[in-house]
Amino acid sequence: MIVAKFGGTSLASAGQVKKVCNIILSDSRRKVIVVSAPGKRNSDDIKVTNLLIKCAEAYIKTSNADKELNAVIDRFAGIGKELGVPDNVLASIADDITSRLKLYKGDNERFIDAMKAAGEDNCAKLVAGYLQSLGTDARYVNPGDAGLVLSNEFGNAQVLPESYNNLKALKDISGIIIFPGFFGYSREGDVVTFPRGGSDITGSILAAALDAELYENFTDVDCVYSVNPRIIPNPYPIRELTYREMRELAYAGFNVFHEEAMVPVYRKGIPVRIRNTNNPDAPGTTIVKERKNITRPVIGIASDDRFCCINIDKYLMNREIGFGRRVLKILEDERISYEHMPSGIDHISIVLNQQQLNKEKEERIINQVKKELAVDEISVMHNLALIMIVGEGMSETVGIAARATAAFARVGVNIEMINQGVSEISIMFGVKAKDTEKAVKSLYEEFFGDVRGS
Ligand code: ASP
Repeated sequence: MIVAKFGGTSLASAGQVKKVCNIILSDSRRKVIVVSAPGKRNSDDIKVTNLLIKCAEAYIKTSNADKELNAVIDRFAGIGKELGVPDNVLASIADDITSRLKLYKGDNERFIDAMKAAGEDNCAKLVAGYLQSLGTDARYVNPGDAGLVLSNEFGNAQVLPESYNNLKALKDISGIIIFPGFFGYSREGDVVTFPRGGSDITGSILAAALDAELYENFTDVDCVYSVNPRIIPNPYPIRELTYREMRELAYAGFNVFHEEAMVPVYRKGIPVRIRNTNNPDAPGTTIVKERKNITRPVIGIASDDRFCCINIDKYLMNREIGFGRRVLKILEDERISYEHMPSGIDHISIVLNQQQLNKEKEERIINQVKKELAVDEISVMHNLALIMIVGEGMSETVGIAARATAAFARVGVNIEMINQGVSEISIMFGVKAKDTEKAVKSLYEEFFGDVRGS
């Protein structure tokens, strides 16, 4: 049995929904289908989820959201009419969206989540209605009825353990199940959504609960590429990746699959295949536990330039028990997470996403570290880019770091920091943000120059 998830661009228009249904019907193992809300039809378009957020915000502000509400209803009606979905299905979709406004009781977060979920929920009803009109045995299943229970963190929910047991009962339902992504219900019965892009997470939870043989994730690219296609056009396609590699490559250029979606399938060892709705014959990229065909040491190069680094020096730091813990406690108190922490005998660098800091927070952290830890020096380096080279084949291969550092040197890029874990499947390089493209191009030439454009 396969769980297949289709993203927003795959459901953006009637033509796209037809493609999706052809894919569903072309393999009888596709039993559980997870859908996103209709996404953008072109670059100027607005996703249904964003329309719904505007709708909720307008209603909170002015108690009137007629314009925004009609825009959402029109999107669904436009798609449904072109597909020949019966009028009663379209009327119930319009009713559902309109009636959600009545849920507003002054609790903004709860209300926004209930509105946001309308995109996926009604898209699932629409796709089920269309499949039924073709004579297919398909049905919409509500996540609440199926027992998808989430933490009550609005807009940032996490799956609760009882869900996995509850969802097993879906196996007893005949025909094709159309399941809306992105939301579930809290134990208190409220609609709660995952973080944005969270339909991937729903699909992964279902695949794990149902012990699927495969989790297919249909999107609008043929595969995962070895480097950000915005930096290198037509880069080398990756056919197979391990979960670990995908995780190490989480930075920009590799965000086709929501990072939180990896956890449920990873725990069960269920393979994930990224595929293109617009080109379903393309083999896609499969993410697996172990890879047998390791022909190249480096499988991917990820880069992201939104980081900063807190550098701390103190003589005899290595002898001071609890130094690292106390620094991290200061960050914890500011609700800040970090990405990497390369260190030396008298030195610690803490790399974190720059968006988590502002001037006041930065000053507070510096003052606190000075006060509590009597450090010799502390400074914050802004506009840092991280570049990761990743591959299971790097482990035990001699000379990878030499080749990488030579690639930086050839284009005159200074390496601010390097970090390699004992697993040896990735090396992280920190460079100035302005040097990112130059460095990535040179690394790509070094590790993929032999297959350029293939
Ligand atoms: N529709 C939601 C969003 O735009 C979730 C998803 O597409 O996965 O974030």
